[in-house]
Amino acid sequence: MRYLFFKIQLLLFALCALAACSDDKDEPAVQAPFLEITPSGVEEITSEGGKLTLTVKSNTDWEVTSDKFWCKVTAGEELTGDQVLDLEVEENLSQDDRQATLTFTYADEAGTTRTVEVTVLQKGEVFVEGGAYKIPVVFHVLYANRNIPTQYVKEGHLQTVLDEVNRVYRECGVDLKLELVMATVDPEGNPMEEPGVDRVPWAYIPIDCEKFMTSSDSEYLDLIWDPDYYMNIMLYQFSDSSIAGIAQFPFLLAPDNLEGCEVWSGGALSQENLNRPQCISINSAYVYDMVPLTPETPDGTDACIAVTIAHELGHYLGLRHVFSESYMGCRDTDYCNDTPTYNRSSYEQVVYSYLGTADFKNHLEELTERECCTDGSVFVWGTERNVY
Ligand SMILES: [Zn+2]
Repeated sequence: MRYLFFKIQLLLFALCALAACSDDKDEPAVQAPFLEITPSGVEEITSEGGKLTLTVKSNTDWEVTSDKFWCKVTAGEELTGDQVLDLEVEENLSQDDRQATLTFTYADEAGTTRTVEVTVLQKGEVFVEGGAYKIPVVFHVLYANRNIPTQYVKEGHLQTVLDEVNRVYRECGVDLKLELVMATVDPEGNPMEEPGVDRVPWAYIPIDCEKFMTSSDSEYLDLIWDPDYYMNIMLYQFSDSSIAGIAQFPFLLAPDNLEGCEVWSGGALSQENLNRPQCISINSAYVYDMVPLTPETPDGTDACIAVTIAHELGHYLGLRHVFSESYMGCRDTDYCNDTPTYNRSSYEQVVYSYLGTADFKNHLEELTERECCTDGSVFVWGTERNVY
C-alpha cells in the first residue's frame, strides 16, 4: 500500500514536471507591449541648447515625433525595442522660455495606439548688462522680376554679405560684443526654408526709399517682422540710385534714456503703435558690390554693401554721424565724447574736388584725413572713412 502510494506520488510529480516543461516550451509567457523613457517627464536645458540623451526601453515597434523644429530627435532606421536617442536642441536667442513635446507612440496588445510624452523646457537668454548680443536678421527681398539677380538676390549670397558685416564690426577696433545671425524661424514659429531671407513679390520696382521709410501704409508696415525679435533689412532697388541705404533710429522705452534718441512713452512698442517701418532699407542695386574702397583696396567701391549695412545698422542701434549734423556751424551732434566732430563742409570740398576725376583713387589716403572742428587738427579715420 505504501509502495503504491509512493509510486502514484512519483507519477504525479513526473506528470507535473512534464506539464511544466511542455508549458515552457510551447506557450512562452507573452509580455504586453510596453515603452518606457529614461529620463521621463520634463527635461530642462539652457538657452545655449545642446544635446540630450534619452533611453528607450521597449519590447515592440514604436515611433517618435517632435512638435518643434528646434528640438530634433535622431533615431535609428528601425524603431523597435531598446534604443538610445540623441536629442539636439538649438540655441534660443530670445529672452522667452520655450517648450517642445516629444511624442512616442506604440500599439498595445489590443492594437490601440499608446503614447508616452517627454517635455523639453528651454530657458530664454538672460539679460546680462554688458553681455554679448546675437541678433537674428531677416532680409526682406522685394522683387518684381525673379530673373533679375539684383532683385531676386542669388541664394546663399546674403549669408556672405552678413558674414562681411560681422567682419566689419569685428575689425572696427572695439569689441562690440555683437554678432548678427540669419534668422532660422519665421514669426509663426516655422523653420525658414532659406534662413534669414524672406522673398516678397512686389508689383513695382524701383521704390522711393524715403517714402517707404516714412509711410504708415499697411502694405509697408505688414512687411516688418516683430522688431523685438528680428532686425529687419529691406532690400530693394531704390528710385534714387545715389542712395545706398537709409535707416530708422531706435526708440528708448521710458524710463530708459539715451541722449540723442527719442523716448517712447506710447504704451507697448508694437508694430501697430509704431506706425512706421522700423527697419533699414538697402539699395539692392549694389548687393554684389563686396569690396570697399580703401587705400588698401583702391579697386573697391564706395557703395560696398557690407559697409552700407554696417553703417545703417549703426543708425538703427542709435549711432549718429560723427560729423556735425546740424549744418549750422561745427557742433558735436553725435552725443559721443570719444569721437571729435569734424568739419564736414571742408571735408566734402576735398572729396568733391577729386570725385569724378581720373585720379580720385590716388587721393584716398588724403580722404581718410579729416579736419577736427575743435582745434583744426587732422585725424585719420579707420573703417568708417568711405561712408559719407
Ligand atoms: Zn548715415
